[in-house]
Amino acid sequence: MTGGYMDRFLWVNLSDGTMQEEVPDEALWRDFVGGYGVGARLLYTRMRPGVEPLGPDNVLGFITGPLTGTPAPTGTRWAVVGKSPLTGTWGDANASGFFGVALKRAGYDAVFFTGIAARPVYLYLEDGRAELRDASHLWGQDCYQMEDWVKAELGKDVEAAGIGPAGEKLARIAAVIHYKGRAAARSGLGAVMGSKRLKMIAARGTRTVPLADPGATKDLRQKYVKEITSGVGFANFYRETGTPGYTPLGVLNGDSPTRNWGASVASFPGAEALEFGELLKHRLSRESCWQCPIACWGTSRVEYGGQMIEAHQPEYETASAFGSMTLNNHYPSLIRANDLCNRYGLDTISAGACVAFAMECYEHGLIGPSDTGGIELRWGDHQAMNAFLEKLARREDFGDLLADGVMRAAERLGPAAEPFAIHIGGQELPMHDPRFEPALGVIYQIDATPGRHTQACQYLVAPGFPSKRPNFGVNREEQKGRGRWIKEASCLCHTMNAAGVCLFGYLSTHVTFVPEFLSAVSGRPFTVDDMLQVGERIANVRQAFNVREGINAVTWPIPKRAYGIPPLPDGPTAGITVQIEEMLKEHLDEMGWTQDRALPRREVLERLGLEDIADDLWKREGI
Ligand code: SF4
Repeated sequence: MTGGYMDRFLWVNLSDGTMQEEVPDEALWRDFVGGYGVGARLLYTRMRPGVEPLGPDNVLGFITGPLTGTPAPTGTRWAVVGKSPLTGTWGDANASGFFGVALKRAGYDAVFFTGIAARPVYLYLEDGRAELRDASHLWGQDCYQMEDWVKAELGKDVEAAGIGPAGEKLARIAAVIHYKGRAAARSGLGAVMGSKRLKMIAARGTRTVPLADPGATKDLRQKYVKEITSGVGFANFYRETGTPGYTPLGVLNGDSPTRNWGASVASFPGAEALEFGELLKHRLSRESCWQCPIACWGTSRVEYGGQMIEAHQPEYETASAFGSMTLNNHYPSLIRANDLCNRYGLDTISAGACVAFAMECYEHGLIGPSDTGGIELRWGDHQAMNAFLEKLARREDFGDLLADGVMRAAERLGPAAEPFAIHIGGQELPMHDPRFEPALGVIYQIDATPGRHTQACQYLVAPGFPSKRPNFGVNREEQKGRGRWIKEASCLCHTMNAAGVCLFGYLSTHVTFVPEFLSAVSGRPFTVDDMLQVGERIANVRQAFNVREGINAVTWPIPKRAYGIPPLPDGPTAGITVQIEEMLKEHLDEMGWTQDRALPRREVLERLGLEDIADDLWKREGI
């Protein structure tokens, strides 16, 4: 057994209820580490191209990394993978909390599902045992009710990840929710769970994750906890406020999209009311994921709409998606929006973007009260915003259409709605504006899961990495070079994600954090250069998956206003246009992907040991 791994996959065929264990090939760990890296490699090989994302042949995986459940600080992450029903591309999302640790302690690194169950089921895992159980009584319950049932009926030490009504109703922006608010939200994989009639996975166990060198691992924990508590990188930011501390700054500096990406902060008077102190007034508790020394998140309690709401504190992405995007500076309503998304199981980024899109359609008369169930959907009206969000979550009225994202809604409304639908490849953009940081424009377009902000940007590199590059949003008038820097940043991020640690821990320690822990935990020497190479391999397999699906991200239309076409006339990013063609060209050259289709070149795939994928892809090209 290799340190860091339980060396067990479980394959579950939901159509006939059969289950099979697999001992993974050690080369899979060596070459892809874990998480979505391993997921991409496996699904490329074992899932044929062209499957219907909501059909029986889509493979849905839940995968941990080798550092998940080890003493590595922030070693809490677990990933969900599959073909995305939102974009038709490679799909992945990851989350923190306690579920990944429980999955490993139950004896499994990963669980993969195929088929469709005849009736709702959940998978129960405990100490190497796996059982498919009836979930008919849970179907229709929201994610809070599901979590409460798990704790009451299965035990307080059982951790679950599952879907709410949005996933059950196949909303393509549905998330997988754990612990009432730790969300694997992007790519719409909650709908894939719903399509399989899989309500949740519940896991508990007493096994421990094997460590090749327990003494060295313990010493490393001390070293890196000290880095975190002494304020390396972004450590103080994550420890003191977490991401909500950025909300007012993001609005004021032009990073947060405002009024559905159509205006600057000049159109959002009162944005200062989003300062962290206002959110703190409603704080119920400060919280942490399993054994995490950062403890970046918390819960809030607030009276809103005649109800007492207790919910996870909105992260920056959520506060911006329902805040600046809709011209809303009312924190209690943001807590409620977060609460609704977590209850119903929705991606808060996509859901907020959908509501902002609907507000703009309403303003221009493309939809009216007969579409909204009588709700007057006006900018800045937080009550209307939350009332409409509930309709979206329940798939009622126009919310039914929007539950599948802005791209599909705009297609139905016609060309007049298209400029308001801010997405790439079908996925709504996150709350960081390419006009503020142009490099984001490249990764939004070219990452295999389009519209993602956590995969790369030149600043998403841990301290100690030896290269010079401009910081986030600095010197954006000079955009040359950014496309090049993204390669290193994305490769490092892919390996960090695959290892099972949190982006916030990675950015709060030196870049040696991941390789040193991987060496001590696995017993295989691992360096920063290895991190770059494994990350490049992961990037190429994800990309190959998309190319094989017939996806050409190079020709995807970009949402013009988000790229400064035309530029904003006022505000901190006035006059900025993202030089996307030049940066994309730089990036494709750097990756060794063709300029016309982002097809990984044969020599690149072969250098990374992916000869079979090179043969497969290039044979399809007839070469
Ligand atoms: S940094 Fe925050 S999200 Fe990441 S593991 Fe720690 S508590 Fe969880």
